[in-house]
Amino acid sequence: MPARSASPALRLPSIDSLLRHPACLPLTERYGRDALLASLRQLLDDLREPVLSSQLDAVEITPEVLAGRAGERLDLQHRSQVRRVFNLTGTVLHTNLGRALLPDEAIDAVQRAARYPLNLEFDLQSGKRGDRDDLIEGLIRELTGAEAVTVVNNNAAAVLLTLNSLGARKEGIISRGELIEIGGAFRIPDIMARAGVKLHEVGTTNRTHARDYEAAIGPRSGLLMRVHASNYAIEGFTARVPTAELAELAHKHGLPLLEDLGSGSLLDLTRWGLPAEPTVRQALIDGADIVTFSGDKLLGGPQAGLIVGRKDLIAKIKKNPLKRALRVDKLTLAALEAVLSLYRNPDQLAERLPSLRLLTRAQADILAQAERLQPSLAQALGDGWSVSAVAALGMIGSGSQPVARLPSAALCLRPLVSKRLRGRHLLGLEAAFRQLAIPVLGRIDDDALWLDLRQLDDEAAWRAQLDQLQVPG
Ligand SMILES: *Cc1c(COP(=O)(O)O)cnc(C)c1O
Repeated sequence: MPARSASPALRLPSIDSLLRHPACLPLTERYGRDALLASLRQLLDDLREPVLSSQLDAVEITPEVLAGRAGERLDLQHRSQVRRVFNLTGTVLHTNLGRALLPDEAIDAVQRAARYPLNLEFDLQSGKRGDRDDLIEGLIRELTGAEAVTVVNNNAAAVLLTLNSLGARKEGIISRGELIEIGGAFRIPDIMARAGVKLHEVGTTNRTHARDYEAAIGPRSGLLMRVHASNYAIEGFTARVPTAELAELAHKHGLPLLEDLGSGSLLDLTRWGLPAEPTVRQALIDGADIVTFSGDKLLGGPQAGLIVGRKDLIAKIKKNPLKRALRVDKLTLAALEAVLSLYRNPDQLAERLPSLRLLTRAQADILAQAERLQPSLAQALGDGWSVSAVAALGMIGSGSQPVARLPSAALCLRPLVSKRLRGRHLLGLEAAFRQLAIPVLGRIDDDALWLDLRQLDDEAAWRAQLDQLQVPG
């Protein structure tokens, strides 16, 4: 068959000559010869057909160009799977996006703990073996008023360990209104079962009274439990026994009261104009014997589960062999100590703790930012889209105040196409934002893509990649 093109057929360079070419040397050094070889093979395979059918020019298959393309492929393949993103979803403590961001003090502490040996389980006073919980016990006692403390991998682990330590083979009494499921398949009835505690549910979904608990208490009872409803709210005709009354009832029968606070705030958030959340200190004052809460929700620290409360019960929990399986590592402890230290000075907290700084950002400030960024985004998107800076409502996230909304502001992107095509355009643009070097994550709602700017503090990095956006058309 005669060639379609009149020009003489191009020839791809051989693998060997490419491997020896100076343009490939830095790639061999960086990725190793085997990886480079595989990448070049693949590249040449992909080019064979275009070369045969004369779709390429000689300049497109020089060793320098081919090395460049192989390098791009290798960069992409070897790119870290753990990627930074812009969280413009409007949900600040987003579980799928890593929840709280750590303050510099904690990042420094993590670096030190990673780089050098440390007294993780070594008492520098006595020279004897120590306990890793001791590193933060003093601080947590000071900040919560608790007698004793132990820390595990996350709050789910804290609940599992506490239930198993204090209630195995006995009954755990809990209101039907608190048998919740939290994201990631954490369900109170399932955790209880795995902890070996027999669930004894009382009351109804919307109303549970002291007499319901009282009637359930018997010889098989091991503990009373209270769970923060976290990601849903019961409104209307409701009744719930106050913690103080529940504690009194438990203690009258010699039972401990366990409270799973979930997000567990250490300070009253209303001082910063945020919705009220029960504090750990108040739960202990009210008489809860053990309180469990997360380290990376409202606390603003690393992923961890904190168990605080009565000394004798904490001692029992620490003796449970499961504690060893659920314990935290040195990096977590280092970060946690640094974050907790910031709480010693509440007046500075909103500036120094990133999650609180973001949660308390004023709507006017966010709206001004949206107005500032509107023109460059409108330009990047072109004629097919309307871009407006508007007020919006965000949320705290991670089960804190599910019904409360944070007054925020967003860039609202609407496709200027017929209703029939809108969905496809929105999904296309959403995907294009995800393909950026630092993926931008927003949310689709009401025929628009919303980029809530509460958490956009690296404006320069965000702007810098706008011209890479592949707007679907
Ligand atoms: C979030 C939450 C948990 C789970 O905490 P993790 O730290 O995510 O394991 C458990 N209980 C309640 C009430 C929660 O809100």
